[in-house]
Amino acid sequence: MAQKKPADLKGPQAGSAGRNTLSFVFLPATAPGEGLGHLARALSLASQATSRGRVFVDPDALRSRPELSSILRSLPARKRYDSLEAFPPDSVPVLDMRRTPSDLAAELAERFPLCGIDEGGPERTRFAFLIDTLPGRGNRDAANLQALPCEPPSARRPARPTGTASFSRVLISFGGEDRAGLGRTLVEALLQARLFSPRRMTVVEGPLSRPGDWPEKVRIVRGCRSLGELVGEYDLLFTHFGIGAYEAVLAGVSVVLVNPSGYHRALARREGFPEIGVSVPRLGRLRRLLSRPGSLEAAADAIRERTAARPALESVLAGLSGRGRHLCPVCGSPPGPALARFPAKTYFRCPACAVIWLSFWGAPRVYHDAYFFEEYRAQYGRTYLEDFLAIKQSGRERLRLIFRFLRPRPGGGIRPGKPRLLDAGAAYGPFLAAAAEHGCEAEGIELNSAAARYVRTVLKIPCRTGDFATARVTPEIRGAGGEPRVRFTPNSYDIITMWYILEHFDDPAGVLSKVNRLLKPGGVFALATPSAAGVSFLKNKRRFCAASPDDHATVWTPRGARSVLARFGFSVRAVRSTGHHPERFWKRLRGGIPAAVVGFFSRLLCLGDTFELYAVKT
Ligand SMILES: [Zn+2]
Repeated sequence: MAQKKPADLKGPQAGSAGRNTLSFVFLPATAPGEGLGHLARALSLASQATSRGRVFVDPDALRSRPELSSILRSLPARKRYDSLEAFPPDSVPVLDMRRTPSDLAAELAERFPLCGIDEGGPERTRFAFLIDTLPGRGNRDAANLQALPCEPPSARRPARPTGTASFSRVLISFGGEDRAGLGRTLVEALLQARLFSPRRMTVVEGPLSRPGDWPEKVRIVRGCRSLGELVGEYDLLFTHFGIGAYEAVLAGVSVVLVNPSGYHRALARREGFPEIGVSVPRLGRLRRLLSRPGSLEAAADAIRERTAARPALESVLAGLSGRGRHLCPVCGSPPGPALARFPAKTYFRCPACAVIWLSFWGAPRVYHDAYFFEEYRAQYGRTYLEDFLAIKQSGRERLRLIFRFLRPRPGGGIRPGKPRLLDAGAAYGPFLAAAAEHGCEAEGIELNSAAARYVRTVLKIPCRTGDFATARVTPEIRGAGGEPRVRFTPNSYDIITMWYILEHFDDPAGVLSKVNRLLKPGGVFALATPSAAGVSFLKNKRRFCAASPDDHATVWTPRGARSVLARFGFSVRAVRSTGHHPERFWKRLRGGIPAAVVGFFSRLLCLGDTFELYAVKT
């Protein structure tokens, strides 16, 4: 009902109350040529106390690169998995593989919601949650959010004197592997061109790079896992495009890139890093850059400012809560490409049954007694109780339709004279009031205890406090935890209604089966729900999804609902397109046409933003 949830739209927040307990499994890229950055990041994320994270590396990759095993063994065994089968059912795989192989993605996606970091493979669009820390090449689909690849340092280094003398301490680091030998090539070139004396240079030798002789007086650092701790002591970093470049910029250190490939260079240019060529450093270009140290600082400042608003990757993961649903909640199909992504949620449409579902990664929502007052008023400008009479009036119209479809069947037990009606999600009971006046033996079930009490005490209509989804159908006095359970009897109702409730259920399939079991044969199931076939959706899917409340787990179309209901044992007798808003139509189309005419066509073409559906149990 309520349309605005500003707190959730901000996305996962670091340090927010109730840090998540998601069981992340980090799968880093480990193929030859991928460097050690992904593995180092996985080890670091899994070691953090805030995450129940573990690392998985494909055993085949370890066999072909035994040098990785020793690095992986630095992590305690309880922080690793040795096979995909070992992942527990509540795992959330975090794939940091650059291009996840399709077969691996498909295998994992059947069991878990997939979270991707900088995913650039063909399965990107199907990931339940996408975080980009580096710019992608080409126009790939937007991620759920952009994050910094590393934590920004707590304090910036102090400003230093300007002029060429400002680069008195130079750091050179080309990752853990440096297969192309860029570090050595660069050091030799810098010395030959007399750009820096050997004393001013420090080289970080990665654990997998070929050890060798470095020119005398050049300082060598070994066993450094993160540049972030080291780089702040230097004035200039030479590296290739990657996490290290960001670590330097965030620490206030100037950066010059030499890239191992055109791909790295394209990314570097896109993000605005100064660079001096691919494989071979172009010294003329470097001289020009060094002669204007202010330009290097300005480039670093610009990158830092542009990325300043992004949260760090670790904080994003720590702030993810709930568990993003990865399969269609109606039929269990894996998703097609995502419909829309936001910092706290992703929308998918089921290719099999057309239901749109929400994969929610933000803070879980709690209903409270103020819901009907504050949030309803925020959206509609009046409280739910103030609307009571209008809703009751629309209830009378709905009841006329329901009674038209309610047909006694031989042996079915339908009582057209005084039918038994259950309204699930009864709220303050306006529909129940109309049903009672219409001669029904009406009762409700409502999650909100204040609303349920109002129905019982003021309207004098039976109404249980509880959740229809978890209420037991078969008689049972106490639930497993000893809490009282709401009980229902199969084949006991002539009519079951759900006005704007179906979309709230996490398990609509379970709810539809339950409705079917509770209804007598020939009984009527009537519902109303937002429409993904109305003008608002057709006009702008992304805006529709952005405005769809975070507690709406599904969005339906009349056509999709019709076929799904058939599978659950219903025959749909009528669909009414409702919620017509001429002012929401395309401006170009509305120009000069009276609202009444637009409204007429909206009704004719069923372009309402909500719909009602009336079905009979077959
Ligand atoms: Zn489906």
